[in-house]
Amino acid sequence: MAHAFRVGQGFDLHRLVRGRPFVLGGLRIPHPRGPLGHSDGDALLHALTDALLGATGGGDIGDRFPDTDPRWEGADSRALLGAVWAPLRKAGWRVCNVDATVVAERPTLGPWKPRIARGIARLLGIPAGRVCVKAKTLEKLGEIGKGKAVAAQVVVLLDKSSR
Ligand code: MG
Repeated sequence: MAHAFRVGQGFDLHRLVRGRPFVLGGLRIPHPRGPLGHSDGDALLHALTDALLGATGGGDIGDRFPDTDPRWEGADSRALLGAVWAPLRKAGWRVCNVDATVVAERPTLGPWKPRIARGIARLLGIPAGRVCVKAKTLEKLGEIGKGKAVAAQVVVLLDKSSR
C-alpha cells in the first residue's frame, strides 16, 4: 500500500462591520459586528477550503466561487467547503489533520474553540481530535487589533492510499 501525502495552507481575512452576523467555522457567535463578504464571510472555512484546494492543486476559492457570480451571494460557506471537499473525498483523499489559527481581537473566541473544531470535523467527516482550532489576538495592534477584521490561517494534511 503506497501513501501519497499532501500538505495545504490557506489564509483569509474579512472586515467586521455592524449589521452582519458573526460566522466563524460554520458557527454563529453573538457579536455586534460580522464579516463583510459576498458569501457569509466565514474566514476560517474560506482558509480551510483554500488549504484543501492548495493541497490538491485545485486553484483557490476565488477561482471556484467568484464574487462576481450572484450564485454565491450570501452563500453558506459550509456549502462552499462541501462543494470542494466532496469530490476530493470521493477521489480517495482523507484528512489526517487540520491545524487552524484564528486572529481576532473580539469577540473572545476561547470558549468557542471546541465547538468550532467539532463542527469542522463533522463537515470533513473526521474525528474531532484531528482538528485543532487556536485563537489569538493582536494585542490591540493594527486594524485587527481594533476589532475591525478577523483573519484565519489553516494548514491541512491529506492522505491518499493506493495499492
Ligand atoms: Mg473569504
